[in-house]
Amino acid sequence: MREDLHRPAMITDADQWRSRDLAVLWHPCTQMREHPGTLPLVPIERGEGAWLIGRDGRRYLDAVSSWWTNLFGHAEPRIAAAIAAQAGQLEQVILAGFSHQPAVELAERLLAIAPRETGRDPLAKVFYADNGSAGVEVALKMAFHWFHNRGEHRRRKFVALENGYHGETLGALAVGDVPLYRRVYAPLLAEALFAPSPDSFLAVEGESPADCARRAADALGELLERHAGEVCALILEPRVQCAGGMRMHDPAYLAHARALCDAHGVLMIADEIATGFGRTGSLFACQQAGIQPDLLCLSKGLTGGFLPLAAVLATQSIYDGFLDDSRERAFLHSHSYTGNPLACAAALASLDIFETDDVLAHNIETAGHMARLAAPFAELPHVADVRQAGMIVAFELTRDGDRRTPFEASRRVGLRAYRSALDQGVVLRPLGDIVYWMPPYCVTPQQLELLADATRTAILEAAA
Ligand SMILES: *Cc1c(COP(=O)(O)O)cnc(C)c1O
Repeated sequence: MREDLHRPAMITDADQWRSRDLAVLWHPCTQMREHPGTLPLVPIERGEGAWLIGRDGRRYLDAVSSWWTNLFGHAEPRIAAAIAAQAGQLEQVILAGFSHQPAVELAERLLAIAPRETGRDPLAKVFYADNGSAGVEVALKMAFHWFHNRGEHRRRKFVALENGYHGETLGALAVGDVPLYRRVYAPLLAEALFAPSPDSFLAVEGESPADCARRAADALGELLERHAGEVCALILEPRVQCAGGMRMHDPAYLAHARALCDAHGVLMIADEIATGFGRTGSLFACQQAGIQPDLLCLSKGLTGGFLPLAAVLATQSIYDGFLDDSRERAFLHSHSYTGNPLACAAALASLDIFETDDVLAHNIETAGHMARLAAPFAELPHVADVRQAGMIVAFELTRDGDRRTPFEASRRVGLRAYRSALDQGVVLRPLGDIVYWMPPYCVTPQQLELLADATRTAILEAAA
């Protein structure tokens, strides 16, 4: 079989790939020194449904949807076919001065399904970017520039939530509050105002999630009051602060925040890059509170997890604020691959699947299985909290299983859980000491059972 016979028996094909990789690649979000001794490096050859298949033939259940991007499974044939067909026709064209069918159709369809509130100026225009962080930059610049065009030059601050995350570029980092990603770059970042998170995990004794949301909203109201006339927008992740540890809040917060933005003349930016497209149970998380933002950021699942693409949806009145005879007043932002036809074609195929497969109804069933499998974890000694929003389940691990005593960071509990799960053929990627499930929607009840077994073992081993 192949030339393997001529190599020393111990060096596998996967080993060869690892050394070729480490000779030339610098991986994202990784202390490269930990590869491959502390942190395994797994060469993947292909994907199939919820499975990733390694070059050594080992199969891994992708319980994190490949960084929250994948919706319907890997190499989904309908999306793959749509991309192939588009590639044979038009792969890319400049979107300034030119137009193409996938970009127009996708915009029409996104606007038709976007959150809408009766009586509010609806989301009416789509601006494309090519990744989530770039989408956030677009929304922030639009909000600032819109007020600037109105002559409201004092409105130049952004309000964001504590423990929020909006991406890694400098503008997005400035409104993020996850210290691990932010701290080093703090001297470079524009100043933002941070309001307390409505995170239900932070509820004090006797407080319901709705009470906790109310308390956080009161603090937001005070902040907006103190900075009256200085704030252009509030940016938040509706329902789940994902990178901040899958922390969840009561939808009531979104309704309070919407009302406060209106009262203070501040735009609301909903970052649904991770929560959009059915992840939290509804198509968009905003819909659980019946609210509509002024700017909506989408990416990750937008293309079903096939290609990078972001869309920023804006209201008609924001759009109108840029119309003028001067170029200065126009939104001159662009990316080379803005509205790439292949990515738009993938997104259209993904939206088709939502319709033909009745995905949201199917997800309700799957989320029910996840809930039943997750419930017993609350009894494990180190599990302080089990929480769920639709297709996301999180387990918060603490030293004593109470809600306030974290493990010492040096114990690397998350890393140990990661390695244990990987050994069992499951990809979990804990956020600190928070283990979570965010599987592709095609995950089967049997696969979920495997996931639950592996997670239980991983938690017990990591926390021991
Ligand atoms: C992932 C994420 C981003 C950044 O998207 P990238 O494509 O990784 O740049 C922004 N906001 C939220 C809420 C995210 O989860």
